[in-house]
Amino acid sequence: MKVRKAAVVGGGPGGLYAARLMRLADPGLEVVVHEQGLPETTFGFGVALGARTQRNLEAADPDSLRDILAASYPHDMSMRVGDRVARVPGGRLVAIARTELLAVLGRHAEKAGVELRHGERVDPADLDADVVVVADGVSSATRTGGADAFGASVEVGRGLFLWAGTDFALDEAMFAPATTEHGTFVAHAYPYAPDRSTFLVEADEGTWRRAGFDRTTDETPSDASDETALAYLSDAFAQRLRGHRLIGNRTRWQRFRTVTCARWSDGNRVLLGDAAHTAHYSVGSGTKLAMEDAIALCEALAAAPDRDAAFAGYQRRRKPEVARMQALARRSQRWWDSFPARTHLPVEQLTVAYMSRAGNVPLARFAASTPGVVRAGLAQYSGEPPERVDLADPDAWVSARPWAGFPSRVVHRGMLTDFTEVTNVPADPWCAEADELVRRLTRAGRAAWVTGPADRGDLLTRLEFAERLRLAGLPMVIAEGPAELFPDLTAGLAAGRTDLIAIQNRP
Ligand SMILES: Cc1cc2nc3c(=O)[nH]c(=O)nc-3n(C[C@H](O)[C@H](O)[C@H](O)COP(=O)(O)OP(=O)(O)OC[C@H]3O[C@@H](n4cnc5c(N)ncnc54)[C@H](O)[C@@H]3O)c2cc1C
Repeated sequence: MKVRKAAVVGGGPGGLYAARLMRLADPGLEVVVHEQGLPETTFGFGVALGARTQRNLEAADPDSLRDILAASYPHDMSMRVGDRVARVPGGRLVAIARTELLAVLGRHAEKAGVELRHGERVDPADLDADVVVVADGVSSATRTGGADAFGASVEVGRGLFLWAGTDFALDEAMFAPATTEHGTFVAHAYPYAPDRSTFLVEADEGTWRRAGFDRTTDETPSDASDETALAYLSDAFAQRLRGHRLIGNRTRWQRFRTVTCARWSDGNRVLLGDAAHTAHYSVGSGTKLAMEDAIALCEALAAAPDRDAAFAGYQRRRKPEVARMQALARRSQRWWDSFPARTHLPVEQLTVAYMSRAGNVPLARFAASTPGVVRAGLAQYSGEPPERVDLADPDAWVSARPWAGFPSRVVHRGMLTDFTEVTNVPADPWCAEADELVRRLTRAGRAAWVTGPADRGDLLTRLEFAERLRLAGLPMVIAEGPAELFPDLTAGLAAGRTDLIAIQNRP
């Protein structure tokens, strides 16, 4: 379609990238980016970009990717509990300072002929353009103001997090808990420059309140950092920080907001990036999704006969992928919200649980990329020596282990006499309704046979709930699922989510 003038609201990664790609696709197009902040006042520390994202950016615009990679910092990953550590290769995972990323994208946008106007907060309704790309972030005033037009909803997370940094490069990305007198705080940290790391810390509400952070949050002005929290966490993570302190940049405790929109456009306005959708930071994909939206929007604008068809095509292409990512992110968020309950697991088995938390990495794939950790994790799961673990077919090996008098971990109903069948697992296994169900089943004190619909989402939710029952101390938990989802069931066993598994519709 022929667009003469495009305006972009928001000079974050999504807005800048969309502006550049629109100009590259149509050099006759007038494109202006309106960003309320000044280039040096952006928030945040580093953001991570995985291998698949890099491939997508390479295909869309190799020049900007080259500069992004030149300014970024590769890293592997580690899980650290006390003195125990499990390392996982990061593949092509890199991180880049948000300031650097914006500088690279801003430069490339200008090189393509985009006009950048910093220091202007604008209302899309006031802009004279055929297309207004609304990339104004998670707090998007456009989306909030037009909540009905976009069918927007925002879910607020249970846990709290704070995005800080530190002035040295960690050796690798690190997940690490620190327990204080108030409870357990968990760090997600990774290096993004030779002298910088992102250091995000999360806490459950009880821990956060006991440490007095409800009060310090209220007392921290919106343009300042919560210095009390930063000092406290610098001490709590002193061992990990190796004498360094945490640095703030408008750093304060927040609850993650998951944004979804039924419709991504309204008239000449089209939502992009965090304005349209968010996915919990623990799947590290907010920037990726924003930039991939930009690619899809520009392709749709180039291919469709008119604006409405382009916006519809863009939404059709992106919404399923975003929904998939949000489903993964919700599971990941719940796993991290409940992380302190699992720190008793040996670190390798905990890492197996981490990798399978959202159902995205099958055991066999993880075993192929990281055999040392998986071998140790499966040995811990089974109580057998590591050299006995057969990684050639980990699903078969895991399910064949005997347990508590059963010849293998796969059972059928005739093998058990005394159990409660659970068929009504709530969609959120950590909600108040689920708490009540856990209490009832714990009081009953019998084994629980957890079953339900055969689709994958339901099975993964069941396995999450089965884990809750195990953590609550039920004598035995059996998770039932269809034969074609056997790898999900065995990952559930290896991760300690269930004691036994059963195959649906098998006598
Ligand atoms: C704790 C945390 C950790 C994260 N870690 C990662 C990670 O590891 N990897 C990753 O990929 N992502 C990560 N993200 C997510 C990532 O920061 C965002 O998803 C990403 O920045 C979204 O890009 P965007 O362009 O949609 O919006 P933003 O980057 O939020 O940009 C929106 C811009 O719009 C501007 N704006 C708003 N309103 C107006 C207006 N009316 N007029 C003019 N300008 C306006 C704002 O100033 C802002 O610059 C993380 C986020 C959080 C909170």
